[in-house]
Amino acid sequence: MTANVSIRGVTQRYGGALALDGVSLEIAAGEFVVLLGPSGCGKTTLLNLIGGFSEPVSGQVLIGGRDMAGVSPAQRPTTTVFQDYALFPHMTLADNVGFGLRMRGVGRAARRVQAEEMLALVGLPGRADRRPHELSGGQRQRVALARALAVSPDVLLLDEPLGALDLKLRRAMQDELKAIQRRVGTTFVHVTHDQEEAMAIADRIVVMNAGKVADIGPPREVYLRPKSLFSAAFMGEINQIAVRDGQSALGPMGAGTGVLLVRPESIGLTGGLPLGDCRVEDAAFFGTHVRAHVTPLAAPDLRLTVHLPQATATSPGDVLTLFATDPVMLEA
Ligand code: ADP
Ligand code: MG
Repeated sequence: MTANVSIRGVTQRYGGALALDGVSLEIAAGEFVVLLGPSGCGKTTLLNLIGGFSEPVSGQVLIGGRDMAGVSPAQRPTTTVFQDYALFPHMTLADNVGFGLRMRGVGRAARRVQAEEMLALVGLPGRADRRPHELSGGQRQRVALARALAVSPDVLLLDEPLGALDLKLRRAMQDELKAIQRRVGTTFVHVTHDQEEAMAIADRIVVMNAGKVADIGPPREVYLRPKSLFSAAFMGEINQIAVRDGQSALGPMGAGTGVLLVRPESIGLTGGLPLGDCRVEDAAFFGTHVRAHVTPLAAPDLRLTVHLPQATATSPGDVLTLFATDPVMLEA
């Protein structure tokens, strides 16, 4: 029903190109892990190595402590949900969901019971005799999820499963996916390039960049305490203030040499670290906040993005005295 996954020093190449560069990752049994990163960073390649669709050039994949080298996808305790759900159009939903069980020699009556249970789990009770064309895109993706869960995998692999859905439906499905994962307890490894989706569902986020792990941790930690400039910027907007021996263009700041990172919402009219007087370049009402670009008077080359409280009335040319909270120093 659930298993841990160990990825140990895995490297993958396509021809001469390095797609994964010595990736190591420990995923606990029952954990919901999200692989997050831009297109081409190696997410699908890593997922395919876990699912057995390809073998690494070097390194090891273990599931439940068992080395998966040479084990075919069908023999692994994994199933995969893809973005294009690829249901069989001529089959009923029950037959679609029961397909994997049929391949494993489960009898018709038992398949039906399991299929009905899985359809109920994904929010489609009583639809067993419908056909895929009668469903919306979101409902078809639920059937694909039910089909993947029907064989009780230890590890479910999901490759951008919500990518084809519109934003509102995607947000709703994220909440459901999380709830379903909690109920079944199966280890989920989910690929996305959407950092909001990652934060909505993950126990831990693995930020990937150019075939390597750029950061890893719970959403709050990766967002607030990024361990690399790449993950800081990928998780959301970030301001960078260069620091040399504890000095910046805005005065004494942090310690050592490197770059001080501050989120736009961590800059405000009160707070800890003084940023001095800043001239407002532009300001726009964004609903939840006022988004503005400002230039510190002491550092005309620096442009900061700030999110001020919703009620803030400010316009270009105003001078605001600003402060930063929760800065993160990345040492050079
Ligand atoms: P992601 O899923 O993060 O978008 P992929 O794992 O699909 O990234 O790809 C990682 C890198 O490997 C990319 O540079 C991609 O172009 C390359 N790549 C992926 N699959 C193949 C393939 N079958 N043949 C050649 N190159 C590939
Ligand atoms: Mg991909």
